[in-house]
Amino acid sequence: MSNVQVPKAEDLWKGDKPVFDPSKVTVVFVLGGPGAGKGTQCALMVKDYGFVHLSAGDLLRAEQERPGSQYGDLIRHYIKEGLIVPMEITIKLLENAMADAMANPPKLTDPKLEAGWENGKGRFLIDGFPRKMDQALMFDKVVCPSAFVLFINTDEDKMTQRIIERSKTSGRDDDNLESLKKRFKTFRETSMPVVDMYRKEGKVADIDSSVPIPQVYEQVKAALNKHLSF
Ligand code: AMP
Repeated sequence: MSNVQVPKAEDLWKGDKPVFDPSKVTVVFVLGGPGAGKGTQCALMVKDYGFVHLSAGDLLRAEQERPGSQYGDLIRHYIKEGLIVPMEITIKLLENAMADAMANPPKLTDPKLEAGWENGKGRFLIDGFPRKMDQALMFDKVVCPSAFVLFINTDEDKMTQRIIERSKTSGRDDDNLESLKKRFKTFRETSMPVVDMYRKEGKVADIDSSVPIPQVYEQVKAALNKHLSF
């Protein structure tokens, strides 16, 4: 891996307020182990609620492939090893993607959903983030305090089956048994404490994703209706 310097958080975010105002910008974190079904549920919510879906993993993979990126090799190494990419990189990518969406809101045909993006408002699903305590605390402080967490969860056997199936078409370096084992370990040891912290704050909606997709989505809709006012 190359020895690229990662910028320090205090040099990236200097203001004393978050970049986005949580009274206008709604952020829902979507967490769960690899293969839990986060992406599938996010796609359904985008359609019905007018969210913009930002996957931390997708943004990192795009940055890894971006010609001229100084972080390409570093990101590739972390992803292959199932490790957590340094938070400054991930949070900056998310902030930039949010700013892009605020500047160019999604085209929505339903006027009710369109209203969710008027007058400086916006709504985001942030998928696969925060995966570590430092990034949770930093994002809430410098980018936008989150509204609540959808924790999409099933057992590791089911998640493994789904990832092995996905590996036939995903082309992902980390969709293999060896990387998957490391990703589960990272999830248990590093990401679960984040879920536990938000749980203590009453901000977690538990979603059982062992059941078929439409039944998972029923639970997701009930959670959104409970935690959000739209
Ligand atoms: P995913 O596409 O969500 O399964 O993420 C794939 C890989 O990207 C993870 O195993 C990590 O190496 C990296 N990654 C994804 N999200 C984050 C994050 N929030 N912080 C740091 N690294 C991440």
